[in-house]
Amino acid sequence: MSASALVWFKRDLRIADHAPLAEAAHCEAALALYIIEPAWLESPECHPRHVAWLLECLETLRIALAKKNLPLLVRVGEAPEVMTGLRREFAFTHLFSHEETGPGWSYARDKAVARWCRAHGVAWTEWPQTGVVRRLKDRRGWARLWQQRMDAPSIPVPAGFREPPHSRRASLSDMLPTLPTLHDLGLAWDAAPLNTVGAPETRRAPPASEEAAHQVLQSFLRERGLGYRRHLSSPLDAEEGCSRLSAHLAFGTLSMRTVHQATEAAIQTTPSRELAYDLRGFAGRLRWHCHFMQKLEDEPSIEWRNFARTVDGLRPGDGTELQDADRERLAAWCEGRTGFPMVDACMRQLRATGWLNFRMRAMLVSFAAYHLWLHWREPGLFLARQFLDFEPGIHWSQMQMQSGTTGINTLRIYSPTKQALDQDPQGLYIRRWVPELGTSAYPAPIVDERSALAEAKRKLYALRATPEAKGEAGAIQQKHGSRRSGLPPSGVRARKTSSADLGQGSLF
Ligand SMILES: Cc1cc2nc3c(=O)[nH]c(=O)nc-3n(C[C@H](O)[C@H](O)[C@H](O)COP(=O)(O)OP(=O)(O)OC[C@H]3O[C@@H](n4cnc5c(N)ncnc54)[C@H](O)[C@@H]3O)c2cc1C
Repeated sequence: MSASALVWFKRDLRIADHAPLAEAAHCEAALALYIIEPAWLESPECHPRHVAWLLECLETLRIALAKKNLPLLVRVGEAPEVMTGLRREFAFTHLFSHEETGPGWSYARDKAVARWCRAHGVAWTEWPQTGVVRRLKDRRGWARLWQQRMDAPSIPVPAGFREPPHSRRASLSDMLPTLPTLHDLGLAWDAAPLNTVGAPETRRAPPASEEAAHQVLQSFLRERGLGYRRHLSSPLDAEEGCSRLSAHLAFGTLSMRTVHQATEAAIQTTPSRELAYDLRGFAGRLRWHCHFMQKLEDEPSIEWRNFARTVDGLRPGDGTELQDADRERLAAWCEGRTGFPMVDACMRQLRATGWLNFRMRAMLVSFAAYHLWLHWREPGLFLARQFLDFEPGIHWSQMQMQSGTTGINTLRIYSPTKQALDQDPQGLYIRRWVPELGTSAYPAPIVDERSALAEAKRKLYALRATPEAKGEAGAIQQKHGSRRSGLPPSGVRARKTSSADLGQGSLF
């Protein structure tokens, strides 16, 4: 192809199964670019732990690309300005990238880049990299589309690129410019011990690279996946027994298609029926990843507005300012000092490691929403900063589901006491993260569980019983519901009657 291409890396930090990269290999000249965008660094969801992980990924990615004769430039600035500057050195005619389903700032940036491309006569092509479908009219048949995409052959790594463009032709060291540090970017990551005696580990993030991602995947499919369905809910077992692929999927060091195909192959070939059974449970969750992202793609406002508008204004922080007492409850939750040991242990693990299993994430949110009666936006921003795997579509959908603001899902209220008994009967996990429990250093519970829950349920059930709420639920189900998509029911829903259940809540 007589074209010169700029491959714009975003949340796809890999060389395998990378359509934009493969396409650029057919062009006469190519360069690769990663932009560290101030809009991201300044966004309320960004934490230095995300940036540190990104920089580690870029380190190995640029080496892998340099070996293919493709320089990866890393620039700091807003995308249109960076592209204008770059075009003075390299007059690219094509921009290749993956589609992104991100927060508002990335949506605005994509619109600015589209305008820039039109103004400069650059042809911008984007490829999907998950099961998310752009401009989807209707959810019917969505699961079938997901399957087709994920079963399609993955894209081979290009053999190599032609000489870099003239101004870039130089030694390998020119291909490997020094990356900025956190300090250069004006970021500091205070790894000071968490708030109490002996937080056991700090800053323990999984290794960040495409190679590490493949190792994590293989170790899960071969060994760690055995017992997945049992280990998933326990904070003690999940650290090892879950796949731990979420950060890799969020930063794109692995493609969803690679994970799906490797999982299906492992299910077919493993001699262990138990492992195959567990991996089938895991395979179902991969579909949920894209199902939730699709909700944000279809309705970008869910990152800051309730799915069900009939619940607007229900809690403080939803269109109203938080009062001092609300702020105090929020601070106690964020700092892991609520006086509920399971809640505090989970929050401290999350802050220290950047990861927590699904059940405990749901419990933290349920506690903020029902026990502390806080709107989901502020707690959601705090959690987004803590989760290394922050994925906006999953995150905001889950924040709303666990807070009871989707209008369609069963109200699930997690009791921290029951969770401690079920998931940590010997108290090992709690003692690990809350070593001061039982001493005067540990606070008394900040709310009375029984009366807080009774009040929360009363308000929510009263709202859900109104004709307006029932009418709205139908429309939400129509637009976002998983049944229309053709997704198989999840474990919980399979046991219950219906996801549109507007009646009884359940205490987990
Ligand atoms: C309030 C809340 C916020 C969440 N925010 C995020 C987030 O920002 N990013 C994120 O990746 N996950 C999020 N999750 C979903 C889930 O907790 C994580 O995907 C999971 O804990 C990651 O660990 P793992 O990769 O070892 O998961 P595994 O159990 O090994 O699952 C494999 C993959 O399947 C997908 N997956 C698993 N469970 C879910 C689910 N319930 N919904 C959607 N996809 C799922 C993820 O991509 C995950 O990496 C959130 C859950 C809750 C309750």
